[in-house]
Amino acid sequence: MTLQQVYKKAYDKLQQNAQVQETCAFDLSCLFEHMLGVSRYRLPLIGNQEADEAKARVFFSLCKRYEAGEPLQYLIGEWEFYGLPFSVGEGVLIPRPDTETLVETALALLKDVKRPVVADLCSGSGCVAIAIAHERPDAQVFALELSDAAFPYLIGNISRNHAKVTALHHDVRTPPALPALDLVVSNPPYIPREEMDTLQIQVTHEPEMALFGGEDGYDFYRELPKLYLPLLKKDGAIAFEVGYNQAQTVKQLLLSSGYTDINTQKDLAGIVRVVSGRKL
Ligand code: GLN
Repeated sequence: MTLQQVYKKAYDKLQQNAQVQETCAFDLSCLFEHMLGVSRYRLPLIGNQEADEAKARVFFSLCKRYEAGEPLQYLIGEWEFYGLPFSVGEGVLIPRPDTETLVETALALLKDVKRPVVADLCSGSGCVAIAIAHERPDAQVFALELSDAAFPYLIGNISRNHAKVTALHHDVRTPPALPALDLVVSNPPYIPREEMDTLQIQVTHEPEMALFGGEDGYDFYRELPKLYLPLLKKDGAIAFEVGYNQAQTVKQLLLSSGYTDINTQKDLAGIVRVVSGRKL
């Protein structure tokens, strides 16, 4: 089969599956490039070349898994976040573009701080900690992650990106001994019980531990601000990613935990995605 025929066969098959989302042409081209090494820009130019049979076979099997609901990012084994590559797979949350808003907020909060000390809580793949460390080579960044499945990804991504990040295999609910912090940043699990049953099939493949935020989704927002207030320097800041409808409640929780200067940031979709505050 030619490259074009391989692509077309997979595309036609996906089109028959009503479950598959609109992004399937893009996703398919990612899988195709991953397995056959040809980008969607080059396919029209060299599509009549013969495809490697063994690679085509693996490509079709990945398409089948994609069709059955496995996330594209797990099938490829890596994903980009803030322009950096991250290894991902079963057991670790896939970095999302929404979370880039949290990195931008963190960088803005650190703008006037020299050699900042930062803790990223519930670090997962390490995308937030590593992006901050990449943008601020003078920072000392700690990344805390409890999950045994996610922790090796965190370690691997730190070394893959040559990031100056210290990974701590640790429960964020019992803060470790850390130097005084300029910033606490976190994208904690925040999905409430009632929404756990309505997740897209791809998301159900991701670790519940990274998604489920307790009955009402606010467990981490209730606990972490209080726990980490004593670890922050004066004027130190805290910034959380929040779910699409959680900003108002998280603002209140930060206020009642003793923070001031509460601010919010919208993501690219216009959803209020980040809530931050400062210690007086
Ligand atoms: N943004 C993720 C989702 O809704 C949830 C991540 C989280 O709970 N921190 O799929």
